[in-house]
Amino acid sequence: MEIHCPFLKKYKVFDLINAKSVIYRCELGKVLLKQKDLSKKWACGGCTVPWILAGEHCKYLKPRKDFILRGSSQTWFTCELLDICLERPYEFCDAHCQHYIPV
Ligand code: SF4
Ligand code: SF4
Repeated sequence: MEIHCPFLKKYKVFDLINAKSVIYRCELGKVLLKQKDLSKKWACGGCTVPWILAGEHCKYLKPRKDFILRGSSQTWFTCELLDICLERPYEFCDAHCQHYIPV
């Protein structure tokens, strides 16, 4: 599945004999990713950030990503208004918050 994440950038393109090899960078988590990593659950393949940002979300909601060790990561969101962390913002923001302002 193709990923459309605003934080995914091409970092470097290598010319090989018969092909090109691309190294990517996750600007949110500040790590380099190989092409094959993009589909992995610990990297882009299991990341909720592009899906949350593509949907209707509050302007105060900011994504966070931490790659503690290569092969694992943690994704969460912070609310800049209420200064809270949210693992699944759609559960709290949509259902319980009175301060929701769409982007
Ligand atoms: S890991 Fe998540 S935030 Fe980072 S580039 Fe991939 S989809 Fe985007
Ligand atoms: S809906 Fe509420 S909790 Fe969610 S980001 Fe906006 S202000 Fe914060």
